[in-house]
Amino acid sequence: MLKIKSFVFSPIQENTYLLYNEFNQCAIIDPGCYFDAEKDELVGFIQKSGLQPQMLLNTHCHLDHVFGNKFIADTYGLTLQLHEKEKAVLQFAPTSGLMYNMPFDNYTGSFLTLKEGDSIQLGDDELKVIEAPGHSPGHICFYCASQNFIISGDVLFYRSIGRTDLPGGNHQTLLSSIRQKLFVLPDETLVYSGHGPATTIGDEKRENPFL
Ligand SMILES: [Zn+2]
Ligand SMILES: [Zn+2]
Repeated sequence: MLKIKSFVFSPIQENTYLLYNEFNQCAIIDPGCYFDAEKDELVGFIQKSGLQPQMLLNTHCHLDHVFGNKFIADTYGLTLQLHEKEKAVLQFAPTSGLMYNMPFDNYTGSFLTLKEGDSIQLGDDELKVIEAPGHSPGHICFYCASQNFIISGDVLFYRSIGRTDLPGGNHQTLLSSIRQKLFVLPDETLVYSGHGPATTIGDEKRENPFL
Protein backbone atom coordinates (compact mmCIF):
# COMPACT_ATOMS: atom_id res chain seq x y z
CA MET A 1 0.00 0.00 0.00
CA LEU A 2 1.53 3.29 -1.11
CA LYS A 3 1.31 6.57 0.72
CA ILE A 4 1.71 9.82 -1.14
CA LYS A 5 3.39 12.93 0.20
CA SER A 6 3.54 16.09 -1.88
CA PHE A 7 5.59 19.27 -1.66
CA VAL A 8 5.25 22.52 -3.58
CA PHE A 9 8.69 23.78 -4.59
CA SER A 10 10.40 26.69 -6.37
CA PRO A 11 8.95 29.97 -7.63
CA ILE A 12 7.30 27.86 -10.39
CA GLN A 13 5.22 26.10 -7.69
CA GLU A 14 5.93 22.58 -8.86
CA ASN A 15 4.54 19.53 -7.06
CA THR A 16 7.19 17.04 -5.96
CA TYR A 17 5.90 13.62 -4.89
CA LEU A 18 7.18 10.93 -2.58
CA LEU A 19 5.55 7.51 -2.80
CA TYR A 20 6.38 5.09 -0.01
CA ASN A 21 5.19 1.78 1.35
CA GLU A 22 4.88 0.17 4.79
CA PHE A 23 8.51 -0.97 4.56
CA ASN A 24 9.55 2.68 4.08
CA GLN A 25 10.81 2.02 0.56
CA CYS A 26 10.41 5.30 -1.27
CA ALA A 27 10.26 6.67 -4.83
CA ILE A 28 10.99 10.35 -5.45
CA ILE A 29 9.18 11.81 -8.45
CA ASP A 30 10.15 15.14 -10.05
CA PRO A 31 12.20 16.68 -7.24
CA GLY A 32 11.67 20.37 -7.97
CA CYS A 33 13.44 21.62 -4.84
CA TYR A 34 15.41 24.71 -5.81
CA PHE A 35 16.35 26.59 -2.65
CA ASP A 36 18.43 25.05 0.15
CA ALA A 37 15.45 25.36 2.50
CA GLU A 38 13.39 23.25 0.09
CA LYS A 39 16.11 20.60 -0.15
CA ASP A 40 16.25 20.56 3.66
CA GLU A 41 12.49 20.19 3.85
CA LEU A 42 12.50 17.20 1.48
CA VAL A 43 15.43 15.45 3.15
CA GLY A 44 14.02 16.31 6.58
CA PHE A 45 10.75 14.56 5.80
CA ILE A 46 12.59 11.51 4.46
CA GLN A 47 14.77 11.32 7.58
CA LYS A 48 12.00 11.97 10.07
CA SER A 49 9.82 9.30 8.42
CA GLY A 50 12.70 6.81 8.22
CA LEU A 51 12.26 6.44 4.46
CA GLN A 52 14.79 4.74 2.20
CA PRO A 53 14.74 6.34 -1.26
CA GLN A 54 15.13 3.62 -3.87
CA MET A 55 14.30 5.37 -7.11
CA LEU A 56 14.35 8.76 -8.74
CA LEU A 57 11.75 9.21 -11.48
CA ASN A 58 10.96 12.11 -13.83
CA THR A 59 7.61 12.49 -15.61
CA HIS A 60 9.42 14.87 -17.94
CA CYS A 61 12.43 17.15 -17.77
CA HIS A 62 11.30 20.76 -17.84
CA LEU A 63 13.42 22.76 -15.45
CA ASP A 64 10.84 22.97 -12.65
CA HIS A 65 10.72 19.16 -12.42
CA VAL A 66 14.48 18.57 -12.43
CA PHE A 67 15.97 21.28 -10.19
CA GLY A 68 16.63 18.72 -7.45
CA ASN A 69 17.64 15.71 -9.59
CA LYS A 70 21.37 16.08 -8.96
CA PHE A 71 20.91 16.76 -5.26
CA ILE A 72 18.67 13.71 -4.77
CA ALA A 73 20.84 11.45 -6.93
CA ASP A 74 23.99 12.49 -5.03
CA THR A 75 22.36 12.31 -1.59
CA TYR A 76 20.84 8.85 -2.04
CA GLY A 77 23.03 7.29 -4.75
CA LEU A 78 20.18 6.96 -7.25
CA THR A 79 20.14 6.70 -11.05
CA LEU A 80 17.65 8.92 -12.84
CA GLN A 81 14.80 7.11 -14.62
CA LEU A 82 13.13 8.89 -17.52
CA HIS A 83 11.84 8.41 -21.07
CA GLU A 84 14.48 8.28 -23.81
CA LYS A 85 12.98 11.35 -25.51
CA GLU A 86 13.41 13.45 -22.36
CA LYS A 87 17.20 13.24 -22.39
CA ALA A 88 17.41 16.18 -24.81
CA VAL A 89 14.87 18.12 -22.73
CA LEU A 90 17.00 17.53 -19.63
CA GLN A 91 20.10 18.74 -21.44
CA PHE A 92 18.35 21.99 -22.31
CA ALA A 93 17.02 22.57 -18.77
CA PRO A 94 20.00 24.61 -17.46
CA THR A 95 19.67 26.93 -20.47
CA SER A 96 16.03 27.60 -19.65
CA GLY A 97 17.16 27.99 -16.03
CA LEU A 98 19.31 30.91 -17.13
CA MET A 99 16.41 32.34 -19.15
CA TYR A 100 14.19 32.18 -16.05
CA ASN A 101 17.01 33.56 -13.90
CA MET A 102 17.15 30.27 -11.98
CA PRO A 103 20.57 28.72 -12.62
CA PHE A 104 21.07 25.21 -11.23
CA ASP A 105 23.41 22.20 -11.38
CA ASN A 106 22.00 19.61 -13.76
CA TYR A 107 22.05 15.84 -13.24
CA THR A 108 25.01 14.34 -15.08
CA GLY A 109 24.87 10.64 -14.15
CA SER A 110 23.71 7.67 -16.19
CA PHE A 111 20.08 6.89 -17.03
CA LEU A 112 17.56 4.11 -16.81
CA THR A 113 14.98 4.55 -19.54
CA LEU A 114 11.26 3.91 -19.19
CA LYS A 115 8.66 3.31 -21.88
CA GLU A 116 4.95 2.59 -22.32
CA GLY A 117 3.82 -0.47 -20.38
CA ASP A 118 6.91 -0.75 -18.21
CA SER A 119 6.21 -1.85 -14.68
CA ILE A 120 7.96 -0.11 -11.79
CA GLN A 121 8.04 -2.21 -8.68
CA LEU A 122 8.36 -0.61 -5.25
CA GLY A 123 8.18 -3.53 -2.83
CA ASP A 124 4.78 -5.16 -3.42
CA ASP A 125 3.34 -2.14 -5.20
CA GLU A 126 3.37 -1.53 -8.91
CA LEU A 127 3.32 1.58 -11.05
CA LYS A 128 2.65 1.31 -14.77
CA VAL A 129 4.35 3.68 -17.19
CA ILE A 130 1.96 5.48 -19.53
CA GLU A 131 3.42 7.53 -22.37
CA ALA A 132 1.52 10.80 -22.76
CA PRO A 133 3.42 13.18 -25.08
CA GLY A 134 2.27 16.64 -26.15
CA HIS A 135 3.38 18.87 -23.30
CA SER A 136 6.86 17.40 -23.73
CA PRO A 137 7.98 14.77 -26.28
CA GLY A 138 8.77 11.97 -23.83
CA HIS A 139 6.32 12.77 -21.07
CA ILE A 140 5.28 9.76 -19.00
CA CYS A 141 2.73 9.26 -16.22
CA PHE A 142 2.90 6.74 -13.37
CA TYR A 143 -0.33 4.82 -12.85
CA CYS A 144 -1.13 2.71 -9.81
CA ALA A 145 -4.12 0.55 -10.79
CA SER A 146 -4.50 -1.20 -7.44
CA GLN A 147 -4.90 2.13 -5.60
CA ASN A 148 -6.55 4.11 -8.38
CA PHE A 149 -4.20 7.03 -8.73
CA ILE A 150 -1.93 8.51 -11.36
CA ILE A 151 1.03 10.87 -11.10
CA SER A 152 0.22 12.86 -14.22
CA GLY A 153 3.02 15.43 -14.42
CA ASP A 154 2.09 18.37 -16.64
CA VAL A 155 -0.36 16.53 -18.92
CA LEU A 156 -3.62 17.12 -17.06
CA PHE A 157 -4.36 19.60 -14.28
CA TYR A 158 -7.38 20.52 -12.19
CA ARG A 159 -9.57 22.21 -14.85
CA SER A 160 -6.61 22.77 -17.13
CA ILE A 161 -4.05 21.04 -19.35
CA GLY A 162 -0.31 21.37 -19.96
CA ARG A 163 1.06 24.18 -22.10
CA THR A 164 2.28 23.21 -25.55
CA ASP A 165 4.33 26.25 -26.57
CA LEU A 166 7.65 24.89 -25.28
CA PRO A 167 10.12 23.03 -27.56
CA GLY A 168 8.70 19.66 -28.61
CA GLY A 169 5.19 20.57 -27.49
CA ASN A 170 2.14 19.80 -29.65
CA HIS A 171 -1.43 20.68 -28.74
CA GLN A 172 -3.19 17.98 -30.79
CA THR A 173 -0.80 15.34 -29.48
CA LEU A 174 -1.53 16.46 -25.91
CA LEU A 175 -5.30 16.27 -26.43
CA SER A 176 -4.94 12.77 -27.93
CA SER A 177 -2.78 11.69 -25.00
CA ILE A 178 -5.37 12.86 -22.50
CA ARG A 179 -8.29 11.30 -24.36
CA GLN A 180 -6.66 8.01 -25.29
CA LYS A 181 -4.36 7.41 -22.32
CA LEU A 182 -5.91 9.14 -19.29
CA PHE A 183 -9.64 9.37 -19.96
CA VAL A 184 -9.76 5.59 -20.46
CA LEU A 185 -8.85 5.09 -16.79
CA PRO A 186 -11.65 4.63 -14.22
CA ASP A 187 -13.52 7.85 -13.40
CA GLU A 188 -12.59 7.62 -9.73
CA THR A 189 -8.83 7.61 -10.49
CA LEU A 190 -7.13 10.34 -8.44
CA VAL A 191 -4.91 12.58 -10.52
CA TYR A 192 -1.84 14.06 -8.84
CA SER A 193 -0.59 16.76 -11.18
CA GLY A 194 2.69 18.58 -11.55
CA HIS A 195 1.04 21.84 -10.52
CA GLY A 196 -2.05 22.72 -8.52
CA PRO A 197 -4.49 20.56 -6.57
CA ALA A 198 -5.35 16.91 -7.14
CA THR A 199 -8.43 16.01 -9.14
CA THR A 200 -10.08 12.90 -10.61
CA ILE A 201 -10.41 11.58 -14.15
CA GLY A 202 -14.23 11.74 -13.92
CA ASP A 203 -14.25 15.36 -12.73
CA GLU A 204 -11.96 16.45 -15.55
CA LYS A 205 -14.01 14.55 -18.16
CA ARG A 206 -17.04 16.57 -17.03
CA GLU A 207 -15.57 19.92 -16.05
CA ASN A 208 -12.31 20.51 -17.92
CA PRO A 209 -12.90 23.44 -20.31
CA PHE A 210 -10.03 22.40 -22.59
CA LEU A 211 -11.48 18.99 -23.49
ZN1 LIG B 1 6.46 20.79 -17.89
ZN1 LIG C 1 5.85 21.82 -14.62
